Amino acid sequence: MYCNNCGNEINDVAYCPHCGNSTTENALNKKNEVQNTRNPGTAAVLSFFIPGLGQIYSGMMAEGLTNIFISIVAGLLMMFLSPLAVFIFVLYVIFWLHNIKEAYDGPKSKNDVKNPNSI
Ligand SMILES: [Zn+2]
Repeated sequence: MYCNNCGNEINDVAYCPHCGNSTTENALNKKNEVQNTRNPGTAAVLSFFIPGLGQIYSGMMAEGLTNIFISIVAGLLMMFLSPLAVFIFVLYVIFWLHNIKEAYDGPKSKNDVKNPNSI
């Protein structure tokens, strides 16, 4: 059989000796379950309505809270600095679009739990 992570030929072992990838069906199913719990479309829609909500949904708590905070500050600035409201609004739209993309893309790979059994 072949490792479905690195493609090297391996014997009937629980973990690939080349990359440490688990070769058992059970582990592969678990991996897929974790990936399927998060829907990029749902995250994007949540952040469309409330910036940061999609990030929190995706497990990016810090980014989510930051985006909610920025939205509140931007709203207050537009109210109290009305001469600059258009300028702030344009900046906010850029932030808002980036926020939706960030929610859609999900957590960065460095935050992903990868091959916890590999050494
Ligand atoms: Zn491998």
